[in-house]
Amino acid sequence: WELADKAVRATEVRASWESRVMLFVSAFLVLFTTAAIVLRERDSARRQRTMFLTDPLTGGSNLEGFYREASRAIAAAPPSTYLVVYTNIVHFRFINDSFGRAAGDELIMRLFEIYRESCDGLCARADSDHFVLLVKNDPLALRALCEKVDAELREAEDLHFTGTLSCNYGVCEADDSEASVASMVSDAALVLKAGVMDGGVACFTEAFRAKLSSEMEIVQGAGAALAREEFQMYLQPQIDVRTGALTGAECLCRWQSGALGFMQPDAFIPAFERSGLISDLDFYMLEHVCRAYPLAMPGGQGRALPVSVNFSRPTVLQDGFVERFLETVRRYGVPPEAIEVEITEGAFMVDEAVVISALSVLRAAGFRIAMDDFGSGFSSLSLLRRLPIQVLKLDKEFLREGAEADRTKLILSDIVSMAKHLGMRIVCEGVETAEHVELLGRIGCDTAQGFYYSRPIDLDSFRRKYLA
Ligand code: C2E
Ligand code: CA
Ligand code: CA
Repeated sequence: WELADKAVRATEVRASWESRVMLFVSAFLVLFTTAAIVLRERDSARRQRTMFLTDPLTGGSNLEGFYREASRAIAAAPPSTYLVVYTNIVHFRFINDSFGRAAGDELIMRLFEIYRESCDGLCARADSDHFVLLVKNDPLALRALCEKVDAELREAEDLHFTGTLSCNYGVCEADDSEASVASMVSDAALVLKAGVMDGGVACFTEAFRAKLSSEMEIVQGAGAALAREEFQMYLQPQIDVRTGALTGAECLCRWQSGALGFMQPDAFIPAFERSGLISDLDFYMLEHVCRAYPLAMPGGQGRALPVSVNFSRPTVLQDGFVERFLETVRRYGVPPEAIEVEITEGAFMVDEAVVISALSVLRAAGFRIAMDDFGSGFSSLSLLRRLPIQVLKLDKEFLREGAEADRTKLILSDIVSMAKHLGMRIVCEGVETAEHVELLGRIGCDTAQGFYYSRPIDLDSFRRKYLA
């Protein structure tokens, strides 16, 4: 019995020892696993948070990261300590399209490095070619930063496009402690897009805010104004320089607004272009030109003189532009030679292929295509060769530079002979004096348009003056 008792006690002791060890091991395992899970979760949350705040291309902060860091900095300082700056690369899309996406990405990464080294405050990439900066409210220091960045870009020879690279800046003062950083960035982006640039910098001011609200008023009233037909077609004659005969006219829009009074196109076309309303206006004008046919421009012997109609870039890029155009003209039975399609030089700079393909269809259908404001942008000879245009309209700034300036005369005369070699007709805009007419005659420019002959006038006055 004694032996049996001992054996039982020994077994009990062992069993209790074993169960304690088991308990300890299980507790350790549970603790270890829980700790591992918690650490992993924390690590992945931290990684996710970093990813959420990091720009994958530059490895620096993204817009969300900028919002957080900038909010902290602005809240910790008195109002107006900082400026929020929104930047872009001038003609970035052109660079991307011409040199490829990889070159575009390389440029963005380099620019980020330049900003990080040159800027004392915060810097982050917002999207595409846009960066956001938070810098001290010191306009001179900002100007110096802009110049430094431009100089560094110019010196970056390995980026292929030295000399053509520069940045623009929209600036908003962080003076309202109630406003969010997101709204300051949005204001800086707005002023960059639509503000007045001074040396590449546009500042969000009270005057700009007032302009925005008047633009809003214009845009809000536009739909009803189109329906009420408040827009009017004005015509400006185009004249043969040698004979003085009428060769065509340009249709220019005026708005007799019930609410806002009589307006010139410069007061509303930019707002229409920004808001996407422009295509409705452009087609409205085309329709009015068609309705006036053939009374507007009978050229004699059953021919009609062409009326040129302005089409903005957003209109040409819109899906279905060509179909809508052809349908409109056919609906009124107007022959293609009576309509000239006028597109500004700048419209060819981006989405060149889309613009060329749309215009090629119209040209094949018999419409004349004119490049407006030639010389105001970056057109090159090789670009001209590729474009389906028959008419080159010289920008009026050529004559503003002084018709007698030797350089201008040389440039004008070279452009005219070049265009003639390419088989194009040339119309010079902004002809205001007899000296201008004489100069154009000397260098062989066919056609002139300008106040010297007539300002744009309404249809009735035009008929009375030219067709009676
Ligand atoms: P634009 O197409 O370059 O039209 C020529 C502008 O120059 C017209 O201004 C015309 O009045 C002005 N101009 C004509 N001759 C002279 C001159 O001898 N000297 C000076 N200093 N200026 C002259 P307007 O009518 O105010 O039109 C301004 C711009 O608005 C046009 O420039 C065009 O880009 C745009 N626009 C006008 N109507 C339409 C339209 O129906 N659709 C679109 N998309 N844009 C339009
Ligand atoms: Ca024009
Ligand atoms: Ca023009």
